[in-house]
Amino acid sequence: MTIRMVIASHNANKVREIRQILGDLGFDVVSAAEFPEVPEVEEDGVTFAENALKKARTVAEALGELTLADDSGLEVDALGGRPGVYSARYAGEPKSDARNNAKLLRELAGVPPEQRGAQFRCIMALVYPNGFEQVFEGICRGCMASEPRGETGFGYDPLFVVPEHGKTMAELGQTIKNCISHRSKALEQLKDALGKMEQSS
Ligand code: IMP
Repeated sequence: MTIRMVIASHNANKVREIRQILGDLGFDVVSAAEFPEVPEVEEDGVTFAENALKKARTVAEALGELTLADDSGLEVDALGGRPGVYSARYAGEPKSDARNNAKLLRELAGVPPEQRGAQFRCIMALVYPNGFEQVFEGICRGCMASEPRGETGFGYDPLFVVPEHGKTMAELGQTIKNCISHRSKALEQLKDALGKMEQSS
């Protein structure tokens, strides 16, 4: 029997990447956006873990289903970790990837290459219908470009250079991104945890 996993997110890009990365596990991955009765959760936590757990708990309680939430963002060294949990709305409402990227480039103007280190961080919270919870973290290190490059992905991908490849995430394309991203690293841990639970049951 296929087990349904609800993704507590209205971000279609995240849901797509999670579905692609979990592809071989055999879950029926559906978005919370498909359930109009589920309220959109206000992300008012000050850490990724708080927001991820709040989203996953709210949806799991509303639907009584296995629920996964992803809270993630970009942490830039030269900006003391900003935009961090405020990544989605860094340039204010309405949220816009283009305005967020433009703001970041303005703030990094004049910062030399060796000081442009950054990381994507992803926290995944998995909440079971019986209330059991697990939290997983993935980090992907890189550095900030001085202009956007590439067409794929979303968010800050056109500005995030992966040093091993010398290209931005948006230039690398979805298949490579799904092998190296913060999201894939968090989901690898989730896969390990599910595998261990299966072995012990
Ligand atoms: P939230 O987790 O929904 O609060 O928003 C995450 C925000 O962080 C997104 O809107 C993007 O701006 C950024 N972000 C998270 N993951 C990625 C990614 O894989 N690539 C580029 N930007 C990302």
